[in-house]
Amino acid sequence: MIESQNLTPPTRALAVGAHFDDIEFGCGATLAKWASAGTEVHCCVLTDGSKGTWDPDRDLANLVAERRREQEAAADVLGVKAVHFLEFVDGELVDGIDQRAALSAVIREAKPDVVLGHDPWKRYRVHPDHAAAGHLTINAIVAARDPHFFPNQGEPHRPTTLLLFEAEEQDHVEDAETFLEKKVEALLAHKSQWKSTMGIDEDSPAAADQRAAFKVQIAQAARAAGQHAGLASAEAFKRIEPL
Ligand SMILES: [Zn+2]
Repeated sequence: MIESQNLTPPTRALAVGAHFDDIEFGCGATLAKWASAGTEVHCCVLTDGSKGTWDPDRDLANLVAERRREQEAAADVLGVKAVHFLEFVDGELVDGIDQRAALSAVIREAKPDVVLGHDPWKRYRVHPDHAAAGHLTINAIVAARDPHFFPNQGEPHRPTTLLLFEAEEQDHVEDAETFLEKKVEALLAHKSQWKSTMGIDEDSPAAADQRAAFKVQIAQAARAAGQHAGLASAEAFKRIEPL
């Protein structure tokens, strides 16, 4: 049940995604909205994206480099200040102590008021990295806020709010209407994902139609998310606070 909507744009926000493009799917419009209101937005991509292709002959070092450039381009569209790449191996992400240390360092550096990340408790999801990323994000927040975790990492930092996207139980929405175009534009910056994730084959004569269909799909998801809150379109979250 939706209980709240539209946080006051925070001073700083950090979105954490397992893969390139997860953040844009989960909260791209919200980040664009906040950035335009003056929020300092940071993104952190946990894995290197090295499994994200259906081409068995693809040079993986080349793929990783291309996907980093795409992520930077997507971040520019949204008005993101900085992207932090942690480069753990795609498909093998775990919520381990080294991973928590790396993400805790990003949190202590970026000092976000709001953290956005995957819901680790989402049921019937098949990709292992998303559940691991959700647990890792929550556990890194705990480490970042308490002084006896990683004491050589600098000052502890406690965010006020955690918003979980792709959430099992949604109770908060952000109005996405004005920034839906930005979300789609940022997603389309991930050109190497067009075929495997967005159903767009640029070599096909139907490419333009496929791109249009993808935009409709994003708009429909946003409309569904806004429906119970009386919004034309939205991004929905599970809101957790205090942290
Ligand atoms: Zn993903």
